[in-house]
Amino acid sequence: MSDVYAEPTTAAGPTDPATLARYTTLRLGGPAGRLEIATDADEIVRKVREAEAREEAVLVLAGGSNVVIGDQGFPGTVVLVRSRGFRVVAEEGDTVTVRVAAGEPWDDLVAATVERGWSGLECLSGIPGSAGATPIQNVGAYGQEVAETIVAVEAYDRTHHEVVRMAAADCGFSYRGSIFKYSDRWVVLSVDFRLTRSPLSGPVRYAELARALGVEVGDRVPLADARATVRRLRAGKGMVLDAADPDTWSVGSFFTNPVLEREAYELLRERAADLGEPPHWPGAGDVVKVSAAWLIDKAGFGKGYAGPEGVAISGKHTLALTNRSGAASTAALVALAREIRDGVHARFGVPLHPEPVLINCTI
Ligand SMILES: Cc1cc2nc3c(=O)[nH]c(=O)nc-3n(C[C@H](O)[C@H](O)[C@H](O)COP(=O)(O)OP(=O)(O)OC[C@H]3O[C@@H](n4cnc5c(N)ncnc54)[C@H](O)[C@@H]3O)c2cc1C
Repeated sequence: MSDVYAEPTTAAGPTDPATLARYTTLRLGGPAGRLEIATDADEIVRKVREAEAREEAVLVLAGGSNVVIGDQGFPGTVVLVRSRGFRVVAEEGDTVTVRVAAGEPWDDLVAATVERGWSGLECLSGIPGSAGATPIQNVGAYGQEVAETIVAVEAYDRTHHEVVRMAAADCGFSYRGSIFKYSDRWVVLSVDFRLTRSPLSGPVRYAELARALGVEVGDRVPLADARATVRRLRAGKGMVLDAADPDTWSVGSFFTNPVLEREAYELLRERAADLGEPPHWPGAGDVVKVSAAWLIDKAGFGKGYAGPEGVAISGKHTLALTNRSGAASTAALVALAREIRDGVHARFGVPLHPEPVLINCTI
């Protein structure tokens, strides 16, 4: 099995099996009221229903790579999603539709699709967590996002107490968002991805990736090359989980890239006039997406910037906040996040928003 769901092994780590820090990549989070492990879709639904019958709050947790859980933990039932597997459910022309169990480790799935010559997920290599969590924030990297290949999501609807199959158009996908994020109405049971049978990647859209591959933006490359290069680039930024590297004890990017109206972007340019043009990309409509990493760095929070209790900005990437001592509290991490958010706002007037889901804590 991949290391996606490995539990922390630091000596300073928690030993109580119900301590949620054991199940998060930040190694943070207090106790669960009750911890349940579900290994298939029926069991996931059953565990959720049983918790509801006990009138307990429910937290669905998979790889724990996009959550910040408070020091008080979660007083209700935490259902750990550990279902596995995928199968082809449709083949049409050169496309293949794969149904993936929610708990399937994401990078194992990407590896399997690359091996089989199914194109569409290769640039999402090396992202931790589960397949079932990818629709939650429309996981994306290096110019690809899952909204491009997801055709349906099977979920347990806790409002109507039924299992539903939702078409991609009903999932409300947006930049690092969907109708599932910040909602506990749906529990994802499986996800259908439509991929293309091809030995080549989709057109490479990300300039840094194209450079590393030695091709032009828009070119296609062998799937295995795309995967290996993405993983190498990510590893250099501490963005592939590594139990031995505290720079990866994070949730990846802590803040999303701010999306600004044109007017707000012009204000930013004025405030940053001494620093040159802020890195930015056109968004949908007349909006501009700016680099959160650049804002943070230029506001005085460089790589390695330390907060209390051994929390710090990763030494490899300005956007990742790490619990590098392995023994910090969520309060310490949140304090660092607040300091950065407030510092960026004071310097540039741009609000930063957290990318992970905050559970029983707030910044
Ligand atoms: C080193 C590192 C690098 C990362 N790089 C990227 C990146 O490049 N791009 C990117 O988009 N993300 C990135 N992430 C964030 C994270 O890996 C993804 O968001 C991932 O999809 C989270 O999966 P998970 O299984 O760990 O979710 P969890 O952290 O377990 O859960 C996240 C949220 O989804 C909910 N959830 C999980 N499973 C289900 C389910 N089956 N049904 C309903 N709700 C569910 C949880 O309740 C929670 O609200 C990175 C994280 C780390 C640590």
